[in-house]
Amino acid sequence: MSKQPKIAVIGSLNMDIVVEVDTPPQAGETKFGSSVRFVPGGKGANQAYALAKLGANTTMVGAVGQDAFGDQIIGAMRQAGVHMDSVKRVAEAPTGVASILLAEQDNRIIVIPGANGLCMPSDVDANIDVIANADVVLVQLEIPMETVIHAVRAAKRLGKTVIVNPAPARALPETLLREIDYLTPNQIELGVVGGNVAAEEDVVEAMRGLQRQGVRNVVTTLGAKGCAFVDENGESGFVAGYKVDVVDTTGAGDAFNAGLAYAIASGSELPDAVRFAGKVAALSVTKFGAQGGMPDLRSVLDFRG
Ligand code: ADP
Repeated sequence: MSKQPKIAVIGSLNMDIVVEVDTPPQAGETKFGSSVRFVPGGKGANQAYALAKLGANTTMVGAVGQDAFGDQIIGAMRQAGVHMDSVKRVAEAPTGVASILLAEQDNRIIVIPGANGLCMPSDVDANIDVIANADVVLVQLEIPMETVIHAVRAAKRLGKTVIVNPAPARALPETLLREIDYLTPNQIELGVVGGNVAAEEDVVEAMRGLQRQGVRNVVTTLGAKGCAFVDENGESGFVAGYKVDVVDTTGAGDAFNAGLAYAIASGSELPDAVRFAGKVAALSVTKFGAQGGMPDLRSVLDFRG
């Protein structure tokens, strides 16, 4: 990994409002909670943040509102080194918010996409130089599907390597599948994009099914167990998860995707890239918060698992 990889992330930016309470209130009930935290998140922003922490030259394309959350997110991302000039400020919607109720037994999450829903195909066109300058283009599904499709097509037209993280899970049109170099579902998302994965043996078959529809490589993350992959030569493999002291698994998938994009853009072959991604993700779960837990390159290279 010699040259600095250049990566364009087209995706979501949110403010996570994390409220802690012992048990969730009943309908009509008001309760005191124990804490509130405001944590920048959104899959696009988390992955871009993690890439910048690794040292990639990272540019984000997306949208936030003209509000204080938008200011805070842009400030935090810039501080981490992400180029934010292609994130537009919209007057018509607030910055995306995830309202997260953390209770002892069950968590409840409401996502308001807000400005993320206004990240349009025209924003891809307006920032086509960002895609043209990147080695790898990384997208998720928290922005409108038409924008995802437009971005992937534009990237492929320019000969770029495209990674699609199909999260949150949605079925993908076959025309899109044919343009994807690397598809990175978790096990649940694989079930939605690739069909039945009730048993562990089904995972490789579902990934091969996606290849028959035109995806070149598929990597499925399996939580603490690690990940499985099929590559464009038809080889399949499994890389076990690293054993670490888990503090917070929020953003593990985002860390993994960032690690994978970094390694692919640096010229790594897929088996090495998924091992690198697994280390980034394992280190990320040892700290609190999605962005707060993202490791730098030195920690990843020094990590022995
Ligand atoms: P998501 O966060 O999208 O649901 P996963 O839970 O599959 O994704 O986790 C993504 C990756 O993060 C896994 O492939 C693994 O490398 C790493 N990971 C997740 N949980 C753990 C854990 N408890 N210990 C070590 N690594 C983990």
